[in-house]
Amino acid sequence: MELIRSYILNPNADHDATVQLYESPNVSDVVGIKYQPDVLILGAGPGGLSAAHKLTLRGKSVRILEKSEHTLAEYKDSNYDDTRLWQNAMGDARFSESFASSDGYTVWKGSGNGGGTLHFGLQYIDTESLIQSSELDPAIFAELQSLTQPQKYDYTHPAFNPNLANLRTSLEESSDFTTHNNKVYCTNLETHSRLLYGDVYSSNVTHGVHIDKLTMDNQAVRYARDSQGKRHYAGSYVLAGGAITNPHILQNSGIATPDTSMYDHLGFTVVYGKLVQQPVYSQVYDPDHLVTLNIDTLQKIHNTTGRYVYKAEGTNIPAVDTNKVWDFTNFTTQHIGGTAKITQWTSTQTLVYPPTHSSLRWNSNKGKFPLIGDFEGSIRWGSLPNELQTDALAQSLGVPVISTGEIQGYEYIPQDLGLDNDNIVGHLQTRAADLSWQTYYSLSPGQSTALVLTHAQSAVLNKTGSVAGVDVDFNRATGDLDVAASQLLDAYSANENILTGLGYTRLSPSPGLVSTINAAFVKTAMNSIYHYHGSCSSLVDGENKVNGVSNLYIGDASTLKKPWGGSTSVPAAVQGLIAGSYASTSSSM
Ligand SMILES: Cc1cc2nc3c(=O)[nH]c(=O)nc-3n(C[C@H](O)[C@H](O)[C@H](O)COP(=O)(O)OP(=O)(O)OC[C@H]3O[C@@H](n4cnc5c(N)ncnc54)[C@H](O)[C@@H]3O)c2cc1C
Repeated sequence: MELIRSYILNPNADHDATVQLYESPNVSDVVGIKYQPDVLILGAGPGGLSAAHKLTLRGKSVRILEKSEHTLAEYKDSNYDDTRLWQNAMGDARFSESFASSDGYTVWKGSGNGGGTLHFGLQYIDTESLIQSSELDPAIFAELQSLTQPQKYDYTHPAFNPNLANLRTSLEESSDFTTHNNKVYCTNLETHSRLLYGDVYSSNVTHGVHIDKLTMDNQAVRYARDSQGKRHYAGSYVLAGGAITNPHILQNSGIATPDTSMYDHLGFTVVYGKLVQQPVYSQVYDPDHLVTLNIDTLQKIHNTTGRYVYKAEGTNIPAVDTNKVWDFTNFTTQHIGGTAKITQWTSTQTLVYPPTHSSLRWNSNKGKFPLIGDFEGSIRWGSLPNELQTDALAQSLGVPVISTGEIQGYEYIPQDLGLDNDNIVGHLQTRAADLSWQTYYSLSPGQSTALVLTHAQSAVLNKTGSVAGVDVDFNRATGDLDVAASQLLDAYSANENILTGLGYTRLSPSPGLVSTINAAFVKTAMNSIYHYHGSCSSLVDGENKVNGVSNLYIGDASTLKKPWGGSTSVPAAVQGLIAGSYASTSSSM
């Protein structure tokens, strides 16, 4: 391992802040000496960390610069290495970024030592056909596997939930898809510990450094410049800022124009549950319970029944009708001056009869708004008009229930699915035989009544997405979106078919709101599921070296040349291993 020495110069001097040894700086400007690494890696996602690991294995000195200020240690201090806390981790803004793309899709980006995979498990690829159909070398998958030692859920383990195991067995029996257990959320079912990709490499990561640009000299990167204007030198560079950020850095650097295409997966989420039928009984409230007709009561009447029940006051209200409460609801549409003149009193519940209106006018309309009772007087619950005697008002006023009456109807309540959502973050995946779609089955802690299915497609969205800085546009050709919606509909139908056979019901989108899920609906509901990749694929050669630049490699999901039919952290890591292998032999070091 050889470190290159550089001088740290007086920042006011007419030189770079650090200068390599062979540049012979003006000695009076030198304020110190520091060592620069063989390879500088920009970004500590799965790609950057894998490259760092490989380079270190090859005896090279490495430094990673990571934009996020938040470290893996902070992540673990928050106990997010406990699989059961995945939802809290996911919602913690320190470890994720999200923004809306220019065409309205929500885009999530992970950050820190492991990117988005901090929050989820590493995807362990056991679909041989996926590897074989991909551009990637199975030997490198094997290398990654020996590096991370992922363990799949053992569905036969005594700590594992038997109901989930049964669900898996039922899915396996379907001929509509293949079923996989290929997600590594938890490496130890007893301790709930999670495999964190950041553990692969955690030394020499400097956090809070945002790289803006690479400065070129003679078809080689001379230094990387951060947002503070500071320069970072190395023999070689591995760009691993992710498929959205890399194009931006390359554009800034004038190295090449990256592709304007990017692959992504669109997803469509459906929630299922099991409903139990429960009778709904009418409640019999105490008819003799006394209700005081004060302003508080009138407000509760309006809030629960929506009716316009007010006290009325005004000099031209005849004495016999003063200090009384009336129901003006039906009169709102009959009032000659318009509805708003009546409905305007809902903040005070006191209708002010205008002094310009006569007593005669009051008397001629009086029969159109029924009298309820004396203001501040008491009235029996049973004496209120029928339209006011609602369950909601009775409950709001605290009227006692004296008995339960007849069965009024039935309601359907989601029941606990018995899948132990709080303790098991189980994962099942079903996949079309032609790999065109996959469906992720997830359980959420605290939601024992819900089984969440995310249908995702991954093979067709390409060609017209564009990247400019972080202004991402997923506006693909119309044909592509139709294909995507149709694949997601296939995924929905195949999985729904078997789930309904097992007694599950769709809860969301609820059948009441969307009776039939069709491709047109899916097209409006689908969204990015943060598996963007491939934005820089045409810039690199088979060694992930940037064409025409002697010491620059790209090592992350942005170099994938074809759409990847699954979760992307593993192929991102594989690309990092490739960049790390070849950067370690780079002649510039
Ligand atoms: C919420 C979420 C959940 C996911 N779940 C899964 C999953 O369960 N399984 C799976 O396989 N995949 C999952 N993915 C996808 C997976 O995380 C990504 O495909 C993978 O992280 C891509 O790796 P990468 O190295 O290419 O880029 P990234 O992981 O994006 O890493 C890039 C790193 O570079 C840093 N960076 C960016 N710009 C700069 C800059 N200018 N200077 C310095 N540093 C910079 C970023 O902060 C980040 O840490 C998920 C993604 C998200 C967002």
